[in-house]
Amino acid sequence: MATIFSRIVAGEILSYKVAENERYYAFLDINPLAKGHTLVIPKQEVDYFYDLDDDTLEGMILFAKQVAQKIKAFSGCKKVATVVLGLEVPHAHIHLIPMNSEKDVDFTREKLVLTPEEFSEIASALRG
Ligand code: 5GP
Repeated sequence: MATIFSRIVAGEILSYKVAENERYYAFLDINPLAKGHTLVIPKQEVDYFYDLDDDTLEGMILFAKQVAQKIKAFSGCKKVATVVLGLEVPHAHIHLIPMNSEKDVDFTREKLVLTPEEFSEIASALRG
């Protein structure tokens, strides 16, 4: 069965797209730690990040770099944290999170609740 992230790429489940090419897809995390919190995934369905083949892994980091540059410009944060963690969705993903302090990347913190309009505005700004 396709993962929820593959269904997002296929357009079966709505997402707020930030960037896409033939191999990768970036979209806003629906439970963000900060405005601009983005997930980067390979279109290839592989569960564990380090099971990705070298070429896919390398390309994913370069794709994430482009997205991170946009997040940094959008949010004005000091750095964009690059985090690979989580067991919830069995599809490799990188969390890109605007960061001004290490506390900003504490996944036990309460997540932001944004309206669809806010998500759309953020995604549109990051795509621009
Ligand atoms: P993890 O595997 O990293 O623990 O969790 C996956 C991440 O994907 C979580 O941060 C969660 O908020 C996010 N997520 C799970 N399902 C969806 C979804 O349907 N849409 C979006 N945009 N994000 C999701």
